[in-house]
Amino acid sequence: MREKYILRCTECKNENYIGKNDKKKEKIEVKKFCSNCNKHELHKQKK
Ligand SMILES: [Zn+2]
Repeated sequence: MREKYILRCTECKNENYIGKNDKKKEKIEVKKFCSNCNKHELHKQKK
């Protein structure tokens, strides 16, 4: 069973990425490029 998740920029709260959860993780935190901040920021999974 796969769940979709949304990665949100921790700086501007912009929802930038949507992915699929293959493994069950409690938290997903990745550093990705935010087009709103125009730089790499930490993105966290929206709950
Ligand atoms: Zn941002």
